[in-house]
Amino acid sequence: MARYNTFVETGKDEDFGKPAPRYRIENPPFYAAWAAWAAPVIHDTRAGLRINAKCQVQDLNGEVIPGLYCGGESAGGFSQHGLARAICQGYIAGRHAAAEKTRS
Ligand SMILES: Cc1cc2nc3c(=O)[nH]c(=O)nc-3n(C[C@H](O)[C@H](O)[C@H](O)COP(=O)(O)OP(=O)(O)OC[C@H]3O[C@@H](n4cnc5c(N)ncnc54)[C@H](O)[C@@H]3O)c2cc1C
Repeated sequence: MARYNTFVETGKDEDFGKPAPRYRIENPPFYAAWAAWAAPVIHDTRAGLRINAKCQVQDLNGEVIPGLYCGGESAGGFSQHGLARAICQGYIAGRHAAAEKTRS
């Protein structure tokens, strides 16, 4: 806090580049929290493994790789997003894999 307060004095945040730090931290009690939304995490990269509608992984020629399924962040494309995508594709892959196992 002492260091941060010097940034207020100089008007320049030397540690994180916060634009124009204005208010000294001086009156307790103090609280700190980690903000998940402030953490840069890469997802929805539009890369990932190529899959078909059954979430079977396809090779570079579009042929299904037997027994290999993929969904969620690891799957390619940008047709859906986030938890809904992961859950739906997991459900589809799981159902199809179970049916495939029953047949064999
Ligand atoms: C900050 C943040 C906020 C988000 N908020 C939302 C939201 O509000 N709504 C929403 O719908 N989506 C949200 N998302 C996106 C959502 O969390 C993800 O899309 C979803 O969790 C992806 O699920 P997944 O199972 O595909 O991948 P993940 O949840 O990343 O699971 C992959 C798992 O594989 C494990 N793993 C990795 N490598 C290996 C290895 N070599 N061997 C074994 N295990 C391995 C990892 O430890 C991890 O447990 C948010 C994402 C972030 C980062």
